[in-house]
Amino acid sequence: MKTYPSARPHIRAKEKKHVLEVLNSGVFSIGKKQETFEKNIAKLVGVKYAAAVSSGTAGLHLALLAADIGPGDEVITTPFSFVASANAILYVGAKPVFVDIEPLTYNIDPNKIKKAITKKTKAILAVHIFGQPAEMNPILRIAKKYKLKIIEDACESLGATYRGRRTGTFGESAVFSFYPNKQMTTGEGGVVVTQNKKIWELVKSLRNQGRSEDLRWLDHNKLGYNYRMDELSAALGLAQLEKIGWLFRERGRVADWYNKILSEASDSIRLPAVADGNTHTWFVYVVSIKNPKINRDKVIKDLGKEGVAAKPYLPSIHLLSFYKEKFGFKKGDFPVSEAVSNSVLALPFYIGLKKQDIKTISQKVINVIKKHAKRV
Ligand SMILES: *Cc1c(COP(=O)(O)O)cnc(C)c1O
Repeated sequence: MKTYPSARPHIRAKEKKHVLEVLNSGVFSIGKKQETFEKNIAKLVGVKYAAAVSSGTAGLHLALLAADIGPGDEVITTPFSFVASANAILYVGAKPVFVDIEPLTYNIDPNKIKKAITKKTKAILAVHIFGQPAEMNPILRIAKKYKLKIIEDACESLGATYRGRRTGTFGESAVFSFYPNKQMTTGEGGVVVTQNKKIWELVKSLRNQGRSEDLRWLDHNKLGYNYRMDELSAALGLAQLEKIGWLFRERGRVADWYNKILSEASDSIRLPAVADGNTHTWFVYVVSIKNPKINRDKVIKDLGKEGVAAKPYLPSIHLLSFYKEKFGFKKGDFPVSEAVSNSVLALPFYIGLKKQDIKTISQKVINVIKKHAKRV
């Protein structure tokens, strides 16, 4: 039986060549590959500045520090995200304030933001979930009216556009991740992008122990970190960037196959929706089971037996035990997010899957859901 993992990076001769070059050079950190990588990422996103970091999570930490967010501050964000987006708010000593999502795109519901604003609110951390941009126009309006900063967690949305404008260009800063399952990878790695030179310099200093490159200013006058991206990672990233358009197109092709084949089962399976005006770059392909009585976890288990690695993507952050215990969240606090969390599954999604593979996987998904529908 052919088995299908949930994700897999696309690595070929080009990547090996770039990484080998670094291995042969002996320069493994603070070198030219990182600089070139930053320039190329900035160009792709359409911003002036980029600072490469060791992970998306590290990038979020530094973006929040650079925005001067700290103890006593509140940051509005979504409960339907990878836990790192809320964790980063806790790293700087601020409080994450969750706002429920909208059921179409699974992104933060702008209509519910105002009610969550208090005197302590400093920023909105907007997440573009699964590669689809959040509804940025109303978010920008609210931020302007209440004098809030916007930071984008664009870790899942490299290349995606909202009304023609790329994610990563809306906030004071934005963060992309290059973890192996993302649209492109550097192994571990991330980047903070911004149009603001001060923010850029601050992030570059903070990632490097609080030092400045020329030791003229910011000379160890604050607590810094080692969040640098190494040269091997940057080299891998450069090779991936050379084919980034192709990577986006191929992911789109796999998503199209799923859409087409699974639409035959649209009575039982809800397909991912793309909002008008958005382009989607498909970090993952996530469907949801329409019948709420079907036990999604059992569906995933059965698919596993069939060689299909599906994942319950994502759990709502406020119901993770750490968050429940720390903040007293309970079931029902963010009902849309919870309903989505309970019904979604991410299907195997990576370049290299052929149309026949998608047919096979889809048929298995349809059959397993059908079987469970009979039992409820
Ligand atoms: C992947 C991801 C992160 C974290 O990135 P890492 O590189 O794994 O640290 C943060 N937020 C979201 C929404 C992500 O998907």
